[in-house]
Amino acid sequence: ERGGQALDRLIVDVADYPQPGIVFKDITPVLADHDALVAVVGGLATAGRDADGAVHVDKVVGMEARGFILGPPVALDLGVGFVPVRKAGKLPREAHAVTYALEYGEATLELHRDAVRPGERVLLVDDVLATGGTAAATRDLVERCGGVVVAVAVLLELTFLPGRDAVAGVPVTALRPV
Ligand code: 5GP
Repeated sequence: ERGGQALDRLIVDVADYPQPGIVFKDITPVLADHDALVAVVGGLATAGRDADGAVHVDKVVGMEARGFILGPPVALDLGVGFVPVRKAGKLPREAHAVTYALEYGEATLELHRDAVRPGERVLLVDDVLATGGTAAATRDLVERCGGVVVAVAVLLELTFLPGRDAVAGVPVTALRPV
């Protein structure tokens, strides 16, 4: 459909980045286009609402780094707070940590222990769902705080990868499946 095609033109394939053989989807032109940015923020925010428009989440959690860009405007749209999940060693206070496997090596993500309260319902926001490792690790962090991830919203889903399976049981909203 029309809006989708406009978005697709603003997502740039970059060959051999960050390493040979990888085609990186650069979403920064989407951010630079006001109409596209409004559409994306509004689209991601629908994942935090029921069919009747009622907000059903207590927090938006966004993953470093592009979840920090898209998450806060989605949280403002929904009328809830934003919580960052950071790479290891960046958060100043007591944090939960989860280490997960990457294609080569591993990565650690952290979340302040008191940033999500027991029972809180969380919407995860990021730019791209690829293998789902980042989303699964973030779900783990939220659950260690006693919260529950009720939805995942991303701009792009790489559908040739099993990212959805990594967050089984949680609905994934992808504005552009590629
Ligand atoms: P996953 O953990 O699902 O394999 O990878 C998703 C994470 O890596 C997200 O935080 C996303 O920002 C980043 N990522 C992976 N591939 C791409 C890509 O092609 N483009 C962008 N913009 N981010 C990517």
